[in-house]
Amino acid sequence: MEKTLVLIKPDAFSKHYSGDIIKRYEQEGLRIVAMKLLQMDERLASIHYAEHIGRPYYGDLTGFMTSGPIIAMVLEGENAIKKVRALNGKTNPAEAEEGTIRKQFATASNRNAVHASDSPESAQREIHIFFNETEIYDGEYKIPD
Ligand code: ADP
Ligand code: MG
Repeated sequence: MEKTLVLIKPDAFSKHYSGDIIKRYEQEGLRIVAMKLLQMDERLASIHYAEHIGRPYYGDLTGFMTSGPIIAMVLEGENAIKKVRALNGKTNPAEAEEGTIRKQFATASNRNAVHASDSPESAQREIHIFFNETEIYDGEYKIPD
């Protein structure tokens, strides 16, 4: 089982798309093992997007990501990292395939609704930017009586 970090970005959150987006992941069999609502600050954004510091779009990216609430979650499942990236679709929604989350909910490369980790190393790093070990559920999913 693999874990990956997903963020519902401020554009999708403010447009009330969170429920629809979460449903897409659940329908693919991914399990939510951590979740919180927060507003990122400049410091958190610079840690999360460290590899993008200095790029021409960096100021717009951090301004956008800190502009309002987001939902951060950890999803777990077989091949969760690749599966979630495929469900999200390409960074630029104009290039995202039909049926992907970005095709449906994103409006531009810099207003693209969701983030997901792109490798096991980034998943490990990004999950721990947002969650402590105690905030990540590590049991089985049980259906209560
Ligand atoms: P992804 O989110 O698909 O992993 P990247 O890691 O390349 O994409 O970029 C991180 C985020 O930075 C993107 O989701 C997008 O919000 C923003 N971004 C990347 N490239 C551009 C660009 N050329 N113009 C505007 N924003 C961009
Ligand atoms: Mg990325």
